[in-house]
Amino acid sequence: MIQIRGVSKSFAGTKVLDRLDLDIPRKNVVTVIGPSGSGKSTLLRILDFLEHADAGTVDFGDGAVDLTTTKAAEIRKVRSKIGFVFQNYNLFLNKTALQNVAEPLIYAKGIKPGEARTIAAEQLDRVGLADFQDRYPSTLSGGQQQRVGIARAVAQNPELLVLDEPTSALDPEMVNGVLEVIKQLGKEGMTMLMVTHEMRFAYEASNHVVFIEGGHVIEQGDPKQIFEHPREQRTAEFLSSTN
Ligand code: ATP
Ligand code: MG
Repeated sequence: MIQIRGVSKSFAGTKVLDRLDLDIPRKNVVTVIGPSGSGKSTLLRILDFLEHADAGTVDFGDGAVDLTTTKAAEIRKVRSKIGFVFQNYNLFLNKTALQNVAEPLIYAKGIKPGEARTIAAEQLDRVGLADFQDRYPSTLSGGQQQRVGIARAVAQNPELLVLDEPTSALDPEMVNGVLEVIKQLGKEGMTMLMVTHEMRFAYEASNHVVFIEGGHVIEQGDPKQIFEHPREQRTAEFLSSTN
């Protein structure tokens, strides 16, 4: 179990996250849904120290790490366990698909270049891009670029894959290929924390759905319960606003 406890964050005096707790069981897909501005991205960014929390901890089972810390060793310890998939891919545009996946392994993980390229080729194959290894991002579709982003994150062999609206920047016809890759990773036992506005996908791919609003968890449960029998009025209102 990965335990997130007491995460608070304010921007310019406005509380975005308010003592938020979240459990992510291993080999589960936990999906966070909620209105725009409810702090979903902020929560994910805090976990990767792209943003500093005002309070809170994360515990991967080897001791709680303070999410307000500025100690490089502590930050590295958490980051080394997380693979991050961004909404806008964040690929290096002057590097090929293979280089995008291999280079973080070489520079961040200290893996030898030959071995890193082998791992990268395997991961690109896994996301259906075996024939696109030597392409530059500008010559790939959005869906293909996002699959490179997923391959890059998975290649790090993370304990937790974090995905922030991985399909929201894509043309509709590109969405399904990416969703299939994510669903497959879930089936293979990858532990994931995901934010998505694709409710049907959240329903199909998640083990657990968490509705947040106003920096709090309003309601959480298995997808069937949340989507078919929400207990909270606010959850029901949010869900009806999304169709
Ligand atoms: P969306 O569904 O639109 O992606 P979200 O739930 O991901 O929304 P966040 O991006 O976490 O929302 O933002 C939560 C609130 O915090 C918003 O009001 C946003 O304007 C504010 N915010 C986020 N990042 C910053 C920042 N770096 N500086 C100031 N305000 C910020
Ligand atoms: Mg967001």
